[in-house]
Amino acid sequence: MENYNVSDIRNVIVVAHSGAGKTSLIEALLFNAGATTRLGSVASGTSICDYNPDEIERKITINGKFLNLVWNNKKVNLVDTPGYADFIGDLIGALRAVDASIVIVDAVGGVEVGTERVWEFLEKHNLPRIIFINKLDKENANFFETVNSIQEIFGKTCVPFQFPIGKETNFKGARDLLTQSNFDQLDENEKKYALSLREQLIEKIAETDDNLLEKYLEGETLSLEALKKALRQGVISNRIIPIFLGSATNNLSIGPVLDAIDEYFPSPFDRGQIKGVIPNSDKEEVRKPQVDSPFSALVFKTISDPYVGQLTLFRIFSGSLNSDSGFFNSSKRSKERIGQLYILQGKNQIPIKNAIAGDIVAVAKLKDTTTGDTLCDEKNPILYETIKFLEPILSESVKPKSRQDEEKISSALQRLASEDPTFKIGRDPQTKELIISGMGDLHLEVMVSRLKSKYSVDVEIGVPKVPYKETIQKKAQVQGKYKRQSGGRGQYGDCWLELEPLPRGEDYEFVDKIVGGAIPRNYIPSVEKGAREAMQEGVLAGYPVVDVKVTVYDGSFHPVDSSDLAFHIAGSMAFKKGQQEASPVLLEPIMDVEVIIPEEYMGAITGDLNSRRGRIMGMEQRSKMQVIKANVPLAEMLKYATELRSMTGGRGMYSMKFSRYEEVPQKIAQTVISQSKKSEERKE
Ligand code: GDP
Ligand code: MG
Repeated sequence: MENYNVSDIRNVIVVAHSGAGKTSLIEALLFNAGATTRLGSVASGTSICDYNPDEIERKITINGKFLNLVWNNKKVNLVDTPGYADFIGDLIGALRAVDASIVIVDAVGGVEVGTERVWEFLEKHNLPRIIFINKLDKENANFFETVNSIQEIFGKTCVPFQFPIGKETNFKGARDLLTQSNFDQLDENEKKYALSLREQLIEKIAETDDNLLEKYLEGETLSLEALKKALRQGVISNRIIPIFLGSATNNLSIGPVLDAIDEYFPSPFDRGQIKGVIPNSDKEEVRKPQVDSPFSALVFKTISDPYVGQLTLFRIFSGSLNSDSGFFNSSKRSKERIGQLYILQGKNQIPIKNAIAGDIVAVAKLKDTTTGDTLCDEKNPILYETIKFLEPILSESVKPKSRQDEEKISSALQRLASEDPTFKIGRDPQTKELIISGMGDLHLEVMVSRLKSKYSVDVEIGVPKVPYKETIQKKAQVQGKYKRQSGGRGQYGDCWLELEPLPRGEDYEFVDKIVGGAIPRNYIPSVEKGAREAMQEGVLAGYPVVDVKVTVYDGSFHPVDSSDLAFHIAGSMAFKKGQQEASPVLLEPIMDVEVIIPEEYMGAITGDLNSRRGRIMGMEQRSKMQVIKANVPLAEMLKYATELRSMTGGRGMYSMKFSRYEEVPQKIAQTVISQSKKSEERKE
């Protein structure tokens, strides 16, 4: 579509629990608007949205998809989203690019957990929305029960806008309550019911507008035009959420959804100005969503593909942009040149000459830009708040299977991470393992299989090792003496060390208390190096030793045989002996954990945390959910993502971050120590 205005754009995200029919609805919308020539299907792998090989194979949406259609001279950009919590990253990014949402509810399954979870995100973004009750063709579909459950969970701002024609296998479509289309075909009872629903809808609409409410209360008939106008304002201001219905795969009652996008959803202009700051200051700066404002945009997604290369997707907030031009990245403070601009239709990139405020577009091959960056006009800089993705909650260790895999693994992982901000990679400095982290086991499973299918890298996965440490509990004074006499020049080094516990987290301190030249000055650094080396691998189980003060206070030397090496070895011997005598203990990482669950799981989840050696630190109510804060050893949390999901039927969420090291209880320490000895033996 060429020559359109900001007010002609609609940016719509489709959200719901997995399997409710998001992808199928988008297929139906595209088909009915003439953007596609046939109705694609998820079940037969012909969807224009679910085009990745692993999506076709699993019959689920894994990555967010971008599509567009034209309806009543409106340019509609659609975002299809994955329903699984594992792939929530794409949803969080895209929420910053859209102005409205269609929430799908399955007419058989009702409101499911994934839908409740995204609803919270929609509320946070204050996103206008409609609800679409899908699958009304199915045998056990029940429109009225579904409406009841929607109102129970999401409140009475949700009101039916339509009424189903025919039931279950005989489902034929929808009647519009506002226009009363086909009401005369209803039998007496149905008609009475439909009219009462209509009354509810009108009352709800009237309540959003004082003027209208007055007329309504005085019994005046409200014109269709006035009602539609008020409904639009009500939807935009989030005071009313109309409920539509239909069947996506049977292509029934899809037209009214297209009309609703046109008539009731806000354009980027209706959403108002966008707030940011002037870069390097706290000074607020705003942009009006207009073509004649300076250019500004937010990058909300990066797609990385071994064949296509890197594609950057952004929402233009103000101004306009031409192909073969450039912009300033105010997050990275770098200038970027751009070639061809594109809009996306599933996997197809459609070249466009220019794009205006409100639109969602893509460019290839930027050099510095990453997801969350602000793009703008260099002479009119602005910085928008970056996108806050959730922190990964599950980690696995990965080991390349062959030398070839080893060579390719890090660039392949980098590219997977560049397109998914919830997928992180790192190397544990202590255990040296390569660690991948993500939002759940399905997420990591998909990433590992993409590593193989897209980048031909084969890996073995495992549970990451816990980075234990060792320390001491009391003082010890020990001698380390290294003496060798064999033929020519010998070796001689001798030092006395005092080891002493330091407060937790203070790591290490070295003090030189040698007086009278018992050890010559130039050998002291060697004594320290020796002690430091011994600290790398403690005597208990080979873990690094921390929180120890080492004091060298006496020793002796030999004028010919002493050397740096001899004092280095003496320092190391002394430290090992000293650690042994100073009541060594094992330390483990303790995590700050926050678990968010519905009330009814409180007992089960706190009990479970206790059995993981957790300490409950506090509880609080957050909207409808309970938040439990606890301190739990990392060793007990390695598979929590999966376990919490199964304990709460997918309704629980959690996050955690490192807090501190603490002593491992004796009995558990015994097991860790004997396991580490066993693996040492295996290595040898
Ligand atoms: P998504 O995970 O929300 O994108 O859901 P999909 O669009 O992938 O649909 C999940 C499954 O439900 C697929 O097998 C669809 O064929 C099926 N489905 C979707 N919409 C309907 C519908 O209106 N009626 C029936 N009977 N099945 C549907
Ligand atoms: Mg889908």
